[in-house]
Amino acid sequence: MTEFEVSQQVSQRLFDRATRVVPGGVNSPVRAFRAVGGTPPFMTGGRGPYLTDADGNEYVDLVCSWGPLILGHAHPAVVEAVRAAAGRGTSYGAPTPGEVELAEEITSRAPVDMVRLVNSGTEATMSAIRLARGFTGRTKVVKFAGCYHGHVDALLAAAGSGVATLALPDTPGVTGATTADTLVLPYNDVAAIETAFDEHGTDIACVITEAVPCNMGVVPPLPDFNRLLKALCERYGALLVVDEVLTGFRASPSGWYGIEGVAGDLMTFGKVMGGGLPAAAFGGRAEIMERLAPAGPVYQAGTLSGNPLATAAGLATLRNATPEVYEAIDRSAALVANAASEALEKEGVPHRVQAAGNLFSVFFTGEAVGDFAAAQRQDGAAYAAFFHAALERGVYLPPSAYEVWFLSAAHDETALERVVDALPHAARAAAAVRSG
Ligand SMILES: *Cc1c(COP(=O)(O)O)cnc(C)c1O
Repeated sequence: MTEFEVSQQVSQRLFDRATRVVPGGVNSPVRAFRAVGGTPPFMTGGRGPYLTDADGNEYVDLVCSWGPLILGHAHPAVVEAVRAAAGRGTSYGAPTPGEVELAEEITSRAPVDMVRLVNSGTEATMSAIRLARGFTGRTKVVKFAGCYHGHVDALLAAAGSGVATLALPDTPGVTGATTADTLVLPYNDVAAIETAFDEHGTDIACVITEAVPCNMGVVPPLPDFNRLLKALCERYGALLVVDEVLTGFRASPSGWYGIEGVAGDLMTFGKVMGGGLPAAAFGGRAEIMERLAPAGPVYQAGTLSGNPLATAAGLATLRNATPEVYEAIDRSAALVANAASEALEKEGVPHRVQAAGNLFSVFFTGEAVGDFAAAQRQDGAAYAAFFHAALERGVYLPPSAYEVWFLSAAHDETALERVVDALPHAARAAAAVRSG
């Protein structure tokens, strides 16, 4: 692979137009490249492991829509399922067979009796928390600094990812009253969670945690941390909400649960289960889920929930996510993680590659990252240089140092070779920033 001239003229014009009609030019903050500088390429197509932008540049995609695309872009089975569903009408506002099939697919893979389908991960966590409060009759929610659960008001405290990238300590528009019942604790801190239960135990409706935190970069739970959360919740009559929106059906056929085996009382899913269309879900034991309207008193609804196109894409994705798909992703993730580490090592750039199953991220810091505070001590400028050098070589990394590098089963030898070839160049750029 030779270095190609990246022309961004069309993207630049689109971005100029976008900033006049869309705040910051994007519909989700991390897309704007604020953390790495420059103009985001506007994408016009995806095929397997590749993305094409409006100027005709082609990239190996290591974002994969931030996780959903485990089969790569435009997988024939997914495209065909969506095409067929669209031909039958896009939405009915009435129950459909696809919703039953997708719910059965999810409950067969994950330790939940029932699920309610929604449109985004944000909606899933928001609804799970409402249900936890409705079920327990309690008020407080415990979350961990650096864990992201979508842009739910009550959870937008120390929320990692997009918020961390922009260094917003808190967001205006969320009132003190809204977050007053949210307790934010450092991740992996056993003493802190024990103290919180000691002091507030009878008021805590739920603890919400990412199965593996992936939105401050990958910070694996200490051995038994998730088990401890489960035991404490049980002892105090609180619910454990395990957020598998990112890890669900990606880390393994049954998500991180398939690796660690700790079930939440409630669990949230998204990303992969929608196959690139807007679909998410929350689920749990029947006795809890049946408190939801219309079976029970806790209200929750959605005009487009269980949308036929989204359920078709999700079903096609999950049904084609064979054991071979997971093996391929495991292998490619290990290969790229090792190559990144070797390239950075060779140039003397301090870094840590942290992995949990096939989820990994590269921290530009010399210290092991066990919590959000450590994640925030990384060298953002070095990552920006690394990112842009990779982009010039046709590799599209996440435009923030706080993110997982996502692979798919479509990342074949040719695509992986391009990534591996680009990494030494990117590492040299990162080293130059550090010494310059
Ligand atoms: C992406 C994500 C969410 C939010 O999902 P959206 O569909 O973006 O609203 C929630 N939790 C986790 C762990 C996520 O990674």
